[in-house]
Amino acid sequence: MKQQLEVPPNFIKNIIIQDLSNNRVKEIVTRFPPEPNGYLHIGHAKSICLNFGLAKEFNGRCHLRFDDTNPLKEDEKYVSSIKQDVRWLGFDWGEHLYFASDYFEKLFEFAVELIKRKKAYVCDLSPEEIRRYRGSLTEPGVESPYRDRSVEENLDLFFRMKAGEFEEGSKVLRAKIDMSSPNINMRDPVIYRIMKVVHHRTGDKWCIYPTYDFAHCLSDAIEGITHSLCSQEFEDHRPLYDWFVNELIDNEPKPKQIEFARLNLSYTVLSKRKLIQLVEQGYVSGWNDPRLPTLAGLRRRGYTPRSIRRFCELIGVGKSDSMVDIGVLEYAVREDLNKRAERRMGVLDPVKVTIINYPKDKEEFLEAINNPEDLSKGTRQVPFCRELYIEREDFMEDPPKKFFRLAPGREVRLRYAYFIKCIDVKKDPEGNIEEIICEYDPETKGGNSPDGRKVKATLHWVSARHCIEAEVRMYDRLFIKPDPTGDEKNGIDFKTYLNPDSLMIIKECKLEPSLNKVSIGDKFQLERKGYFCVDPDSKPNSLIFNLIVPLRDKWARIAAKK
Ligand code: ATP
Ligand code: MG
Repeated sequence: MKQQLEVPPNFIKNIIIQDLSNNRVKEIVTRFPPEPNGYLHIGHAKSICLNFGLAKEFNGRCHLRFDDTNPLKEDEKYVSSIKQDVRWLGFDWGEHLYFASDYFEKLFEFAVELIKRKKAYVCDLSPEEIRRYRGSLTEPGVESPYRDRSVEENLDLFFRMKAGEFEEGSKVLRAKIDMSSPNINMRDPVIYRIMKVVHHRTGDKWCIYPTYDFAHCLSDAIEGITHSLCSQEFEDHRPLYDWFVNELIDNEPKPKQIEFARLNLSYTVLSKRKLIQLVEQGYVSGWNDPRLPTLAGLRRRGYTPRSIRRFCELIGVGKSDSMVDIGVLEYAVREDLNKRAERRMGVLDPVKVTIINYPKDKEEFLEAINNPEDLSKGTRQVPFCRELYIEREDFMEDPPKKFFRLAPGREVRLRYAYFIKCIDVKKDPEGNIEEIICEYDPETKGGNSPDGRKVKATLHWVSARHCIEAEVRMYDRLFIKPDPTGDEKNGIDFKTYLNPDSLMIIKECKLEPSLNKVSIGDKFQLERKGYFCVDPDSKPNSLIFNLIVPLRDKWARIAAKK
């Protein structure tokens, strides 16, 4: 794809420019607030690029804050993987690493303050009763019978909740706002609940934990966040965000919540809950399975941080939910690797070629360009001899009209080598082609004919005597439907649409010998095939290459034909 995609406008940037120009804020402070309960995925990358990107662009700063207010699902191992992923994407929080759990003491004081101002109360309704009393979109809520407890009683009960005197679920602390508000989030939301569980950072110090709605906005305020960017589903929570901030925070500027559309990507799922099922139920090999949209998976597959940042730039930041075609992600990695990945030759489905007029014992080294898009990458020497391998699909004994590659009596160019002409084929007893017999023209060294003779195809090849063998893992989309979760409303589980052919392992591919000297994570273009990356499971004499992306989008072509 030669055409360049354009970068769409970003409405949040305009808000920031306005806030700076009318002096609402002097400096931009954003945050990326992951919950340490799973690995990051490409949707998180959108949020990371947005938050860190805006901070950088406006000379501000971006905090990394772990939103660890739910000890049931969180774990230290996720903290380190998230840090690794954010760094890998190319962003740096400097000294601004925070944990919501660092603010538990402060948040507790805020809650006490609300109680003292008659803006919060301890409620003894059961979780089920609270739900029932809350009403619905069409009916107002009903006030809790505990709503008018005195300040003294509330303080006493809240401190005793903290001291562990009550059972889980027997009491909560609620903000006293408005049970008839049209916004259900404003109907006396729960701000503290009793959870007698050990927290991965605070241990057993606490047995009451703040809710997301209470902790998030106040953590933002404590850190001096100016623009708190979150996904669209929090829009209805914004009045509550503002309510807590206005009740409890005097300092200006107060943090401002701005919502944007979360990323949905076709042919995959971006929900930690769903990704966990794929991993734990063994549909993929782990969190870093190269087919997953996790950053760990994309990294192992061979996606570069630059290509993911570019993808996030290309998809833009808007308000309306939409599905981004996974082709955009593939475009971004092709665009990057086209410029940076060196070219090599490798034959994935080999068939033998013998050049009968090439001397039996001769071998020579031919010069090949490492990257035609970047000549500073120089050249390398590729061995050539009488026996070669080419791709089985590049030969047809009885070709249809539009097949221009090798066929009996036809001449083609071997990349960087010679013109060869097929003069015979050898078959096994079942009639499968075993060997293609050719003649070469010694005058065409380097792949040019001195008499101006033209050929219609250039094939890649490797020397049968010199090549190395390796395993190549070919990946296809993880799901066969663009929106695998689309039928959940009809009771059809998203896993029904897993693509059974999403991984195809090819053993004993023949690769040019220079690929022997590679390191894990190295990326190459195998000419005419695609971009590949050396998998971490590789051993010195048994290399494994992952297909990052084919050269051209075969899906787009198939879709166009339909
Ligand atoms: P998931 O839905 O996968 O469980 P989450 O929202 O629970 O994700 P968090 O760890 O809370 O995960 O997310 C951290 C930040 O990343 C939040 O600000 C959230 O809005 C943002 N984020 C998560 N998923 C996406 C997405 N698909 N697109 C854009 N931003 C996202
Ligand atoms: Mg979340």
